[in-house]
Amino acid sequence: MHVHLRQGAMMALATAQIEAGGTDTVLVMPNLSPPITSVAQAVAYHAALQRLAPAVTFLMSLYLHPTVTPAVIAEARASGVVHGVKLYPAGVTTNSAAGVLDVAAYHAVFAAMQEHDLVLNLHGEMPSTAAGAITVLNAEAAFLPQLRALHAAFPRLRIVLEHVSTRQGLDAVRRCGPTVAGTITAHHLWATIEDWCGDVFAYCKPVPKTAEDRAALVRAVVAGGGNFFFGSDSAPHPIQAKRGGADGRGATAAGAFTQPYGPALVVQAVAEGVRNGWFAADDVRLEAVDGFLGRFGRSFYKLPESEGRIRLERKGERIVDSLKSGDGAVEVVPFRRGEEVMSVHWVARRDGRTEDVTVAES
Ligand SMILES: [Zn+2]
Repeated sequence: MHVHLRQGAMMALATAQIEAGGTDTVLVMPNLSPPITSVAQAVAYHAALQRLAPAVTFLMSLYLHPTVTPAVIAEARASGVVHGVKLYPAGVTTNSAAGVLDVAAYHAVFAAMQEHDLVLNLHGEMPSTAAGAITVLNAEAAFLPQLRALHAAFPRLRIVLEHVSTRQGLDAVRRCGPTVAGTITAHHLWATIEDWCGDVFAYCKPVPKTAEDRAALVRAVVAGGGNFFFGSDSAPHPIQAKRGGADGRGATAAGAFTQPYGPALVVQAVAEGVRNGWFAADDVRLEAVDGFLGRFGRSFYKLPESEGRIRLERKGERIVDSLKSGDGAVEVVPFRRGEEVMSVHWVARRDGRTEDVTVAES
Protein backbone atom coordinates (compact mmCIF):
# COMPACT_ATOMS: atom_id res chain seq x y z
CA MET A 1 0.00 0.00 0.00
CA HIS A 2 2.80 2.41 -0.95
CA VAL A 3 4.99 1.88 -3.99
CA HIS A 4 6.89 4.08 -6.41
CA LEU A 5 6.61 2.89 -10.00
CA ARG A 6 8.17 5.92 -11.72
CA GLN A 7 7.94 6.64 -15.47
CA GLY A 8 9.37 5.39 -18.77
CA ALA A 9 11.76 2.43 -18.79
CA MET A 10 11.91 2.39 -14.98
CA MET A 11 8.10 2.15 -14.82
CA ALA A 12 8.14 -0.93 -17.08
CA LEU A 13 10.88 -2.55 -15.00
CA ALA A 14 9.30 -1.85 -11.59
CA THR A 15 5.75 -2.71 -12.65
CA ALA A 16 6.85 -6.11 -13.97
CA GLN A 17 8.07 -6.97 -10.46
CA ILE A 18 4.73 -6.46 -8.67
CA GLU A 19 3.29 -9.93 -9.29
CA ALA A 20 6.76 -11.48 -9.33
CA GLY A 21 7.13 -10.28 -5.75
CA GLY A 22 3.81 -11.77 -4.66
CA THR A 23 1.54 -8.74 -4.79
CA ASP A 24 -1.69 -8.14 -6.68
CA THR A 25 -2.71 -4.69 -5.40
CA VAL A 26 -0.59 -1.55 -4.98
CA LEU A 27 -1.18 2.03 -3.90
CA VAL A 28 0.93 4.08 -6.32
CA MET A 29 2.67 7.23 -5.09
CA PRO A 30 2.31 10.43 -7.13
CA ASN A 31 5.78 12.01 -6.88
CA LEU A 32 6.54 11.87 -10.56
CA SER A 33 8.21 14.66 -12.46
CA PRO A 34 5.94 16.60 -12.79
CA PRO A 35 3.90 15.35 -9.79
CA ILE A 36 0.40 13.91 -10.24
CA THR A 37 -1.71 16.88 -9.16
CA SER A 38 -4.79 16.40 -11.36
CA VAL A 39 -7.32 13.60 -11.73
CA ALA A 40 -6.65 13.53 -15.49
CA GLN A 41 -2.96 12.80 -14.81
CA ALA A 42 -3.86 10.08 -12.31
CA VAL A 43 -6.27 8.46 -14.78
CA ALA A 44 -3.66 8.53 -17.56
CA TYR A 45 -0.98 7.09 -15.26
CA HIS A 46 -3.42 4.40 -14.12
CA ALA A 47 -4.13 3.43 -17.74
CA ALA A 48 -0.41 3.22 -18.55
CA LEU A 49 0.25 0.97 -15.54
CA GLN A 50 -2.78 -1.20 -16.28
CA ARG A 51 -1.48 -1.81 -19.82
CA LEU A 52 1.81 -3.05 -18.36
CA ALA A 53 0.17 -5.31 -15.74
CA PRO A 54 -3.48 -6.02 -16.58
CA ALA A 55 -4.00 -8.39 -13.60
CA VAL A 56 -2.77 -5.93 -10.95
CA THR A 57 -5.10 -3.51 -9.14
CA PHE A 58 -3.54 -0.04 -9.13
CA LEU A 59 -4.87 2.38 -6.53
CA MET A 60 -3.82 5.90 -7.47
CA SER A 61 -3.00 8.93 -5.35
CA LEU A 62 -2.77 12.67 -5.88
CA TYR A 63 0.11 14.90 -4.79
CA LEU A 64 -1.21 17.55 -2.38
CA HIS A 65 -0.54 20.88 -4.04
CA PRO A 66 -2.32 24.27 -4.33
CA THR A 67 -4.12 23.04 -7.48
CA VAL A 68 -5.76 20.22 -5.48
CA THR A 69 -8.96 21.95 -4.37
CA PRO A 70 -12.14 20.58 -2.75
CA ALA A 71 -13.62 20.36 -6.27
CA VAL A 72 -10.67 18.22 -7.36
CA ILE A 73 -11.28 15.96 -4.35
CA ALA A 74 -14.88 15.41 -5.49
CA GLU A 75 -13.63 14.68 -9.00
CA ALA A 76 -11.03 12.27 -7.58
CA ARG A 77 -13.65 10.31 -5.68
CA ALA A 78 -15.88 10.14 -8.78
CA SER A 79 -12.97 8.84 -10.89
CA GLY A 80 -12.96 5.52 -9.03
CA VAL A 81 -9.19 5.16 -9.45
CA VAL A 82 -7.93 7.74 -6.92
CA HIS A 83 -7.90 6.41 -3.35
CA GLY A 84 -5.52 8.72 -1.55
CA VAL A 85 -3.88 12.14 -1.42
CA LYS A 86 -0.23 12.28 -0.44
CA LEU A 87 1.13 15.08 1.69
CA TYR A 88 4.86 15.67 1.29
CA PRO A 89 6.33 18.38 3.47
CA ALA A 90 8.41 20.43 1.01
CA GLY A 91 11.90 19.13 0.41
CA VAL A 92 11.98 15.96 2.55
CA THR A 93 12.45 13.29 -0.14
CA THR A 94 12.56 12.45 -3.88
CA ASN A 95 10.57 14.95 -5.97
CA SER A 96 9.08 16.74 -2.96
CA ALA A 97 10.20 20.25 -3.91
CA ALA A 98 6.57 21.10 -4.79
CA GLY A 99 5.37 19.81 -1.42
CA VAL A 100 3.44 21.41 1.40
CA LEU A 101 4.85 24.29 3.42
CA ASP A 102 1.79 25.05 5.55
CA VAL A 103 -0.65 22.28 6.50
CA ALA A 104 -3.26 24.77 7.73
CA ALA A 105 -3.65 26.09 4.19
CA TYR A 106 -5.26 22.76 3.22
CA HIS A 107 -7.98 22.46 5.84
CA ALA A 108 -10.76 22.91 3.27
CA VAL A 109 -9.19 20.12 1.21
CA PHE A 110 -8.97 17.80 4.25
CA ALA A 111 -12.62 18.56 5.04
CA ALA A 112 -13.54 17.58 1.46
CA MET A 113 -11.46 14.41 1.75
CA GLN A 114 -13.25 13.50 4.98
CA GLU A 115 -16.59 14.15 3.26
CA HIS A 116 -15.69 12.10 0.16
CA ASP A 117 -13.87 9.44 2.19
CA LEU A 118 -10.46 9.66 0.52
CA VAL A 119 -7.35 8.64 2.48
CA LEU A 120 -4.71 11.18 3.51
CA ASN A 121 -1.24 9.65 3.14
CA LEU A 122 1.37 11.45 5.22
CA HIS A 123 5.09 11.54 4.60
CA GLY A 124 5.60 12.16 8.30
CA GLU A 125 8.88 14.04 8.45
CA MET A 126 9.73 17.67 9.09
CA PRO A 127 12.35 19.19 6.82
CA SER A 128 15.79 19.41 8.41
CA THR A 129 16.58 22.86 9.77
CA ALA A 130 19.41 24.09 11.92
CA ALA A 131 17.14 26.65 13.60
CA GLY A 132 14.58 23.98 14.53
CA ALA A 133 17.31 21.48 15.52
CA ILE A 134 15.81 18.94 13.13
CA THR A 135 17.90 16.32 11.33
CA VAL A 136 16.92 13.09 9.57
CA LEU A 137 17.18 11.32 12.94
CA ASN A 138 14.37 13.26 14.69
CA ALA A 139 12.42 14.42 11.61
CA GLU A 140 9.64 11.86 12.17
CA ALA A 141 9.26 12.52 15.88
CA ALA A 142 9.09 16.25 15.12
CA PHE A 143 6.22 15.65 12.68
CA LEU A 144 3.99 13.68 15.07
CA PRO A 145 2.24 16.70 16.65
CA GLN A 146 0.90 17.44 13.14
CA LEU A 147 -0.55 13.91 12.90
CA ARG A 148 -2.29 14.38 16.25
CA ALA A 149 -3.59 17.82 15.23
CA LEU A 150 -4.95 16.56 11.90
CA HIS A 151 -6.65 13.59 13.56
CA ALA A 152 -8.18 15.87 16.20
CA ALA A 153 -9.46 18.32 13.58
CA PHE A 154 -10.72 15.61 11.18
CA PRO A 155 -11.56 12.56 13.30
CA ARG A 156 -13.41 10.77 10.46
CA LEU A 157 -10.66 11.38 7.90
CA ARG A 158 -8.71 8.19 7.25
CA ILE A 159 -5.04 9.01 7.69
CA VAL A 160 -1.99 6.83 7.07
CA LEU A 161 1.33 7.70 8.65
CA GLU A 162 3.52 6.26 5.90
CA HIS A 163 6.72 4.28 6.44
CA VAL A 164 6.77 4.51 10.25
CA SER A 165 10.41 4.34 11.33
CA THR A 166 10.43 5.02 15.10
CA ARG A 167 8.89 3.84 18.36
CA GLN A 168 7.43 7.34 18.73
CA GLY A 169 5.71 6.97 15.35
CA LEU A 170 4.22 3.62 16.32
CA ASP A 171 2.97 5.04 19.63
CA ALA A 172 1.47 8.10 17.94
CA VAL A 173 -0.59 5.89 15.61
CA ARG A 174 -1.68 3.67 18.51
CA ARG A 175 -2.91 6.70 20.45
CA CYS A 176 -5.18 7.78 17.57
CA GLY A 177 -8.58 6.29 16.76
CA PRO A 178 -9.38 3.57 14.20
CA THR A 179 -9.33 6.09 11.32
CA VAL A 180 -5.52 6.35 11.67
CA ALA A 181 -3.11 3.62 10.56
CA GLY A 182 0.57 3.30 9.79
CA THR A 183 2.44 1.55 7.03
CA ILE A 184 5.71 -0.23 7.69
CA THR A 185 8.23 -1.04 4.96
CA ALA A 186 10.23 -4.23 4.55
CA HIS A 187 13.53 -2.38 4.68
CA HIS A 188 12.75 -0.70 8.01
CA LEU A 189 12.25 -4.22 9.43
CA TRP A 190 15.86 -4.97 8.47
CA ALA A 191 17.93 -1.83 8.49
CA THR A 192 19.33 0.54 11.12
CA ILE A 193 21.60 3.56 10.89
CA GLU A 194 24.53 1.15 10.41
CA ASP A 195 23.14 -0.02 7.07
CA TRP A 196 22.41 3.19 5.21
CA CYS A 197 25.41 5.17 6.45
CA GLY A 198 27.67 2.71 4.66
CA ASP A 199 25.53 1.58 1.73
CA VAL A 200 23.85 3.92 -0.74
CA PHE A 201 21.49 1.13 -1.82
CA ALA A 202 20.03 1.02 1.73
CA TYR A 203 19.73 4.82 1.99
CA CYS A 204 16.11 5.95 2.08
CA LYS A 205 13.77 8.43 3.76
CA PRO A 206 12.83 8.23 6.52
CA VAL A 207 16.27 6.90 7.35
CA PRO A 208 16.21 3.66 9.36
CA LYS A 209 16.90 4.47 12.98
CA THR A 210 18.14 2.48 16.00
CA ALA A 211 18.13 -1.24 16.77
CA GLU A 212 15.35 -0.56 19.32
CA ASP A 213 13.24 1.15 16.65
CA ARG A 214 13.79 -1.75 14.27
CA ALA A 215 12.75 -4.30 16.92
CA ALA A 216 9.65 -2.25 17.76
CA LEU A 217 8.61 -2.24 14.09
CA VAL A 218 8.96 -6.02 13.79
CA ARG A 219 7.01 -6.43 17.05
CA ALA A 220 4.24 -4.26 15.59
CA VAL A 221 3.95 -6.71 12.67
CA VAL A 222 3.77 -9.66 15.05
CA ALA A 223 1.23 -7.91 17.31
CA GLY A 224 -1.21 -7.94 14.38
CA GLY A 225 -3.44 -5.21 15.76
CA GLY A 226 -4.71 -4.20 12.33
CA ASN A 227 -3.57 -0.58 12.67
CA PHE A 228 -0.26 -1.28 10.89
CA PHE A 229 0.01 -2.81 7.45
CA PHE A 230 2.56 -3.31 4.71
CA GLY A 231 3.55 -0.38 2.54
CA SER A 232 6.84 -1.35 0.97
CA ASP A 233 7.77 2.17 -0.17
CA SER A 234 9.74 0.34 -2.85
CA ALA A 235 11.51 3.25 -4.53
CA PRO A 236 13.74 2.38 -7.49
CA HIS A 237 16.45 4.73 -8.66
CA PRO A 238 18.89 4.19 -11.56
CA ILE A 239 22.19 2.79 -10.31
CA GLN A 240 23.96 6.00 -11.40
CA ALA A 241 21.66 8.15 -9.19
CA LYS A 242 22.41 5.94 -6.17
CA ARG A 243 26.14 6.03 -6.86
CA GLY A 244 26.46 9.78 -6.76
CA GLY A 245 24.86 10.85 -10.01
CA ALA A 246 26.05 11.16 -13.57
CA ASP A 247 27.12 14.75 -12.84
CA GLY A 248 29.75 13.49 -10.41
CA ARG A 249 28.57 15.74 -7.55
CA GLY A 250 28.32 12.73 -5.25
CA ALA A 251 24.81 13.19 -3.84
CA THR A 252 22.85 9.92 -3.59
CA ALA A 253 19.10 9.43 -4.16
CA ALA A 254 16.87 8.32 -1.25
CA GLY A 255 14.99 5.06 -1.77
CA ALA A 256 15.26 1.30 -1.28
CA PHE A 257 14.04 -0.98 -4.09
CA THR A 258 12.19 -4.03 -2.73
CA GLN A 259 9.37 -4.61 -5.23
CA PRO A 260 10.40 -8.17 -6.25
CA TYR A 261 10.87 -9.35 -2.65
CA GLY A 262 8.53 -7.41 -0.31
CA PRO A 263 6.44 -10.17 1.34
CA ALA A 264 9.48 -12.47 1.55
CA LEU A 265 11.54 -9.79 3.30
CA VAL A 266 8.72 -9.19 5.80
CA VAL A 267 8.30 -12.88 6.66
CA GLN A 268 12.06 -13.35 6.96
CA ALA A 269 12.32 -10.27 9.20
CA VAL A 270 9.83 -11.89 11.57
CA ALA A 271 11.93 -15.07 11.61
CA GLU A 272 14.99 -12.91 12.26
CA GLY A 273 13.10 -11.32 15.18
CA VAL A 274 12.67 -14.77 16.75
CA ARG A 275 16.39 -15.44 16.30
CA ASN A 276 17.20 -12.08 17.89
CA GLY A 277 15.03 -12.91 20.90
CA TRP A 278 12.61 -10.03 20.28
CA PHE A 279 9.68 -12.46 20.73
CA ALA A 280 9.16 -16.20 20.84
CA ALA A 281 8.26 -18.34 17.85
CA ASP A 282 5.01 -19.17 19.66
CA ASP A 283 4.11 -15.46 19.65
CA VAL A 284 4.01 -15.39 15.83
CA ARG A 285 0.52 -16.01 14.45
CA LEU A 286 -0.14 -16.57 10.77
CA GLU A 287 -3.22 -14.31 10.97
CA ALA A 288 -1.05 -11.41 12.17
CA VAL A 289 1.59 -11.69 9.44
CA ASP A 290 -0.94 -12.51 6.74
CA GLY A 291 -3.10 -9.62 7.93
CA PHE A 292 -0.14 -7.23 7.86
CA LEU A 293 0.72 -8.23 4.28
CA GLY A 294 -2.81 -8.08 2.90
CA ARG A 295 -6.04 -8.02 4.85
CA PHE A 296 -5.42 -5.06 7.18
CA GLY A 297 -4.50 -2.71 4.35
CA ARG A 298 -7.35 -3.88 2.16
CA SER A 299 -9.75 -3.38 5.05
CA PHE A 300 -8.46 0.15 5.77
CA TYR A 301 -8.83 1.07 2.08
CA LYS A 302 -12.30 -0.56 2.03
CA LEU A 303 -11.33 -3.06 -0.67
CA PRO A 304 -12.77 -6.57 -0.96
CA GLU A 305 -10.55 -9.42 0.16
CA SER A 306 -8.30 -10.83 -2.54
CA GLU A 307 -8.71 -14.42 -3.68
CA GLY A 308 -5.01 -14.39 -4.53
CA ARG A 309 -2.75 -16.56 -2.37
CA ILE A 310 1.02 -16.93 -2.34
CA ARG A 311 3.30 -19.45 -0.70
CA LEU A 312 6.82 -18.45 0.31
CA GLU A 313 9.39 -21.23 0.14
CA ARG A 314 13.05 -21.49 1.05
CA LYS A 315 14.65 -22.76 -2.14
CA GLY A 316 18.09 -21.19 -1.92
CA GLU A 317 17.11 -18.19 -4.08
CA ARG A 318 19.27 -15.11 -3.66
CA ILE A 319 18.35 -11.48 -4.23
CA VAL A 320 19.73 -10.50 -7.61
CA ASP A 321 22.63 -8.05 -7.78
CA SER A 322 20.67 -5.84 -10.15
CA LEU A 323 17.74 -5.74 -12.56
CA LYS A 324 17.95 -4.15 -16.01
CA SER A 325 15.24 -2.88 -18.33
CA GLY A 326 14.69 -4.81 -21.56
CA ASP A 327 16.87 -2.43 -23.56
CA GLY A 328 19.53 -2.31 -20.82
CA ALA A 329 19.15 1.44 -20.45
CA VAL A 330 18.03 1.34 -16.80
CA GLU A 331 19.67 -0.71 -14.05
CA VAL A 332 18.40 -0.95 -10.45
CA VAL A 333 20.06 -2.54 -7.41
CA PRO A 334 17.64 -4.13 -4.92
CA PHE A 335 17.87 -3.79 -1.14
CA ARG A 336 19.81 -6.72 0.43
CA ARG A 337 21.31 -7.74 -2.92
CA GLY A 338 23.00 -11.13 -2.82
CA GLU A 339 21.21 -12.26 0.39
CA GLU A 340 19.15 -15.42 0.57
CA VAL A 341 15.45 -14.81 0.02
CA MET A 342 12.32 -16.93 0.06
CA SER A 343 10.83 -17.70 -3.35
CA VAL A 344 7.30 -16.63 -4.26
CA HIS A 345 4.86 -19.19 -5.61
CA TRP A 346 1.35 -18.14 -6.56
CA VAL A 347 -1.05 -20.76 -5.20
CA ALA A 348 -4.13 -18.95 -6.50
CA ARG A 349 -4.72 -15.81 -8.48
CA ARG A 350 -7.78 -13.66 -8.67
CA ASP A 351 -8.08 -14.28 -12.40
CA GLY A 352 -7.52 -18.04 -12.18
CA ARG A 353 -4.05 -18.07 -13.76
CA THR A 354 -1.67 -20.59 -12.22
CA GLU A 355 1.62 -20.20 -14.12
CA ASP A 356 4.69 -19.20 -12.14
CA VAL A 357 5.87 -15.62 -12.30
CA THR A 358 9.50 -15.24 -11.28
CA VAL A 359 11.82 -12.31 -10.94
CA ALA A 360 12.80 -11.31 -14.45
CA GLU A 361 16.56 -11.48 -14.61
CA SER A 362 18.46 -9.11 -16.80
ZN1 LIG B 1 7.47 6.69 -0.63
